[in-house]
Amino acid sequence: MCNGKTFYITTPIYYVNDIPHIGHAYTTIACDTISRYKRMKGYDVHFLTGTDEHGQKIQTSAEAKGKTPQELVDEIHQNFKHLWEVLNISNDDFIRTTEPRHIKVVQAMFKKLMDQGDIYKGTYTGYYCIPCETYVPESSMGENKTCPECGRPLTIMEEESYFFRASKYVPELIKFYEANLKAVMPRIRYNEIMSFLKGGVKDQSVSRTSIKWGIPVPGDEKHVIYVWFDALINYASAIGYLDDPENFNHWWPYVHHMVGKDIIRFHCVIWHLMLLALGLSLPVSVIAHGWWTRDGDKMSKSKGNVVDPFKVVSEYGLDPFRYFLLREVPFGNDGDFSELALIGRINSDLANDLGNLLNRTLQMIKNYRNGVVPECKDSSSELSTMAANILDRVDSFMNNFAFNEALKAVWEFISRANKFIDETMPWKLAKESDSSSQEKLNFVLLNLYEALRLSALLIAPVMPDTAKRIWSQLGLEGEPVKFLYDSFKWGEGTGKIINKAEILFSRIDIKEWQKSQEAKKMSEQELNSGSESEAKPVIEHEAEISIDDFKTVEMRVAKITKCEEIPRSKKLYKLEVDLGYETRTVCSGIKAFFTPEELEGRVIILVTNLKPVKLCGVESNGMILAASVKKDGVSEQLTLLEPADKNIPLGSRVS
Ligand SMILES: [Zn+2]
Repeated sequence: MCNGKTFYITTPIYYVNDIPHIGHAYTTIACDTISRYKRMKGYDVHFLTGTDEHGQKIQTSAEAKGKTPQELVDEIHQNFKHLWEVLNISNDDFIRTTEPRHIKVVQAMFKKLMDQGDIYKGTYTGYYCIPCETYVPESSMGENKTCPECGRPLTIMEEESYFFRASKYVPELIKFYEANLKAVMPRIRYNEIMSFLKGGVKDQSVSRTSIKWGIPVPGDEKHVIYVWFDALINYASAIGYLDDPENFNHWWPYVHHMVGKDIIRFHCVIWHLMLLALGLSLPVSVIAHGWWTRDGDKMSKSKGNVVDPFKVVSEYGLDPFRYFLLREVPFGNDGDFSELALIGRINSDLANDLGNLLNRTLQMIKNYRNGVVPECKDSSSELSTMAANILDRVDSFMNNFAFNEALKAVWEFISRANKFIDETMPWKLAKESDSSSQEKLNFVLLNLYEALRLSALLIAPVMPDTAKRIWSQLGLEGEPVKFLYDSFKWGEGTGKIINKAEILFSRIDIKEWQKSQEAKKMSEQELNSGSESEAKPVIEHEAEISIDDFKTVEMRVAKITKCEEIPRSKKLYKLEVDLGYETRTVCSGIKAFFTPEELEGRVIILVTNLKPVKLCGVESNGMILAASVKKDGVSEQLTLLEPADKNIPLGSRVS
């Protein structure tokens, strides 16, 4: 089975309390694609995913729902399992950190490190929010050391804690990375990890007495093992670290972890240091991907613009979604999701290029050769030459996780095949009765058929269903995903009997789509306004003013340079705005709609001659203009007024 090629790939285990979103879908589809690809290359593949089920947040949300934490996670981990079914994920295993097979490995590893002196007891000191029952790292604290969740002041807490002697193994890890440049990909993340390591790593606190929902420290049950230490071990516990050394040793030397760029320190530093201490070999690579925005905006729950993979799949189909995610951005970079861009890909790459090639070819084989793929003496052509290179090209891209490049190469081949039809003009050849024209027609049809057979195989890891549909229309038995790339031979399609041609992807009419979007928005608005949807909104007008009155309001273009929370204020932000000629402090009641990061750098319109006023102890010198929809006096929706041309100089007067 193994023939020297073994590949073990993992997704991070997803935090079970999260609602599955595009980020989870992306990591998992990428892992699924590489797994399917490697299987078709003849590798023995193990693909692991799962859920992270311990920690304070689970405990709190279970209490709020009147459940035990175990009951809660038993229920909600299904959200992820369900999504993987919908996304056609071919994982070999799904691990949950509440399973006995995981718990006993975590405890065994903890004990081993304790016995060898790499875990020791000490005191953990940190900023703690008593109502939220959580430590807050300094990096996410509010101003004046407040809790980012509830805004209350934090207290310094000390508790007994076990520490992992991480510092001891740092020099060894640096040496490993110096010798293994691809152990973290892409290079920008490798550099980030190296410079972090060279800055030194403190010993890590790996237990808590303040949390109850977790794995108890062996022999000291008032402590539970800290959730990160627990979670990372899933990669080893799932393959039988303790009970099945043969299985463990089969997979472990070939492990690759795919993660989002936000959790690389845990994976490339803490996990690696743990493995060194445990005497285990280090992963072949950690591959970090970027984040997704939507229509150029950061996604957030408060904005309501989070991409729901269930919804996209039900509207546009699964394979277009899988194709879009992997084709749209270089792996490792951030990407932007927009329905228009997705429709663009469906129309041009999928319906036009691939769909048309299939349809035209099948039609011609049916019309000119009664549906039987013809024979020809020598089928070598420009297409077959390109085909000979493409497997190698795709392989080198896939080995670097460059999914978009691999797909680009496949589409170059598909485009070449379409061009081949235009160049050889089979409809003309069909009209000529001489044997050389007929022989040429055989050559053309066989070449096109082979191009499609190979294309189906090449797209199979990304679009398994579409590949299967092409395969069956081509009259081939079995499934393309079961095919081995190395056994592909150009010309072997001769004699196959094709099936009825069916449309692979329907084009989406953009104008119609835009119309339907407008209609959807309108009906949503009506729904939101409830039973009073018939009544027109009441507009309250102010008294008339003269142009001279209006001119007394001084408004200017300004830029938000800094945004800070105001302790104890739920609505207000303290903003620093730059008018070009001076900077000012302004308080603005827009906290519910933006995070500080979303505001910093925005160019806005400021009313500059309002009398200063003190709000929550901060003097405000101006007012930012915004449009909002209010219900019962409360803003439900809000947008900032911004100049269309962001290059207009700061301080420019608005009139
Ligand atoms: Zn709090």
